Amino acid sequence: MATINSDIILATLKKYWGYESFLSFQEKAIQSILDDNDTLTVLPTGGGKSICFQVPAVILPGTAVVISPLISLMKDQVDALKEVGIDSECINSSQDRATNAEVAGRLRNGTLKLLYISPEMLMTEYMQAMLKSIKISFFAIDEAHCISHWGHDFRAEYRRLYLIKEIFSGMKIHAFTATATKEVQNDIVRELKLVKPHIYIGSVDRTNLLYRMNRKEGDGFEQIVGTLGAHKKQAGIIYCLKRADVDSISAKLNKAGFKSLPYHAGLTDEERKSNQDKFSTEKTDIIVATIAFGMGIDRSNVRFIIHAAMPKSIEHYQQETGRAGRDGLPAYCYMYYSNRDMIIWEFIFGKSGGSEIMYEKLKEMYALCSIPQCRHAFLTTYFGQEYKTGKCNACDFCLEEIDSIDNASELAIKILNGIKDVQERFGAEHVAHILIGKETDNIKKWNHKSLPSFGSLSLETKFAVRAMIDQLLAQHYLVRTGEYYTISITDEGRRLLAGEVKPLLNRPVEGKKKKQLEKKKSKAMEKDWGDVDSNLFETLRALRLSLADKKHVPSYLIFTDKTLIDMATKKPKTLEEMKDIFGIGETKLRQYGKIFLEAIKENGK
Ligand code: ADP
Repeated sequence: MATINSDIILATLKKYWGYESFLSFQEKAIQSILDDNDTLTVLPTGGGKSICFQVPAVILPGTAVVISPLISLMKDQVDALKEVGIDSECINSSQDRATNAEVAGRLRNGTLKLLYISPEMLMTEYMQAMLKSIKISFFAIDEAHCISHWGHDFRAEYRRLYLIKEIFSGMKIHAFTATATKEVQNDIVRELKLVKPHIYIGSVDRTNLLYRMNRKEGDGFEQIVGTLGAHKKQAGIIYCLKRADVDSISAKLNKAGFKSLPYHAGLTDEERKSNQDKFSTEKTDIIVATIAFGMGIDRSNVRFIIHAAMPKSIEHYQQETGRAGRDGLPAYCYMYYSNRDMIIWEFIFGKSGGSEIMYEKLKEMYALCSIPQCRHAFLTTYFGQEYKTGKCNACDFCLEEIDSIDNASELAIKILNGIKDVQERFGAEHVAHILIGKETDNIKKWNHKSLPSFGSLSLETKFAVRAMIDQLLAQHYLVRTGEYYTISITDEGRRLLAGEVKPLLNRPVEGKKKKQLEKKKSKAMEKDWGDVDSNLFETLRALRLSLADKKHVPSYLIFTDKTLIDMATKKPKTLEEMKDIFGIGETKLRQYGKIFLEAIKENGK
């Protein structure tokens, strides 16, 4: 096959999508598809995977067949392609017969550049016969991790995709996923029977996400409300551990004036669908959900994720926070965790016969929350990649929002001595009371006021001491055991007492300093928006919503927030100037250029 020069690729990107350059690995993946190699491309959420197969689909003769696991995902992608002027369709069971027949007709005429179908549909004789009768440019497998038992969304039908190579001999296959683990990658290559695949693996690091991990205060509701206050008029998801928490937090938020909708497996199908649609179409900005709210959420301007409880693994955390900032603009991930979360998960694992691996993953998650270190670095190394950035400037640790403790060993030894003083037979709460020197009923009952460690950390708050105990647990200097969750010292903890190892400790920021930090945070957020005219932005956003409603598509398919921000900053006056706005290709310029120019003329100062 003749090499297609990179100017043509770039011109296609500009013509249809209005983008000036490629995101990391996109050009390589596109070139590999055009060069007729099997490929596996691993890019994080928001990394721009779709364009990697959509650009070649436009350039190459024939129709590209995209295998996609969910009808809602297919529909969004097809709608997005139509918006940029690319002929594409899906065939699935949710469409009526007449529509499917009409699509089949266009497929036979060779006018479609992309066809989206499910793996189940591909396995039907009807579909195979039809695909054999047309010219196919290649197969793209979206969400290819569904093929692997190691992934979190295993789908049995994905396992039969090896048949593609048998049925369509010589056909090239291009697999895409955001899941970067080696096991999943190997499974994909093996199961799809890829031949000498070119493999492109982007960084798992989501540089536009800012991570903040906090210990939960009480039930954490006040912290959630405080966080929502910093994100007015923005979209976000609040993840909870249990259905009951979803219902109660959502109800309390509505009472407190934050309009929100619940989402969990206990709602009826209609309620769930309706709440998800309201979120996708920007009728609702806040969803309170269990993990059940996930795949198929393509809303690109999710600006924050709040974890009202700790998820059970870093894989889940990465997936849930992955829904933020798909448009590449800064987005914020807040974690409010507690020991209780850990205990609840252990209880759930216990009931469901959780494996050793599950407990290990839970411990890693707890370590991410509680060990004071760069969150981006922790996540990147967890997924097996080296973190070379140094200071990330996008997590509470690197932004110095948490007080690292210089004399950590000294403090840790005081905590361990407190535990030794009570013969390792009490829980964290009681030990914390001893250390800060608080005379509770229990302290009196056990006469623990007479212990040498009583009041040895009297300058610390109980909240801080509890947080430091958590950190020592996460670093395996301590371990929590038994029915009463008593704390005891591990072998590693004994090495700490002997001065052979050094722990990491931080003091959670509380009180006045915290208020100052929050103020600084909101200032930083305002800065994200640069010189944008925010009133004009809101006007354009409303215009976008009304157009989206008329066309029955989600707003971000018309224009992403990034495009509206660019418009509300540059305020173009002519169609020629409009062409230079981020994300406006030829079709969108023709469809929406004039109406947005008028809105800018009327409302831009
Ligand atoms: P993924 O499927 O990897 O999560 P998407 O394909 O949904 O990512 O792309 C994420 C966002 O980035 C979309 O809004 C998409 O239009 C945008 N995008 C993709 N490629 C580029 C590019 N080269 N320049 C700018 N934005 C891009």
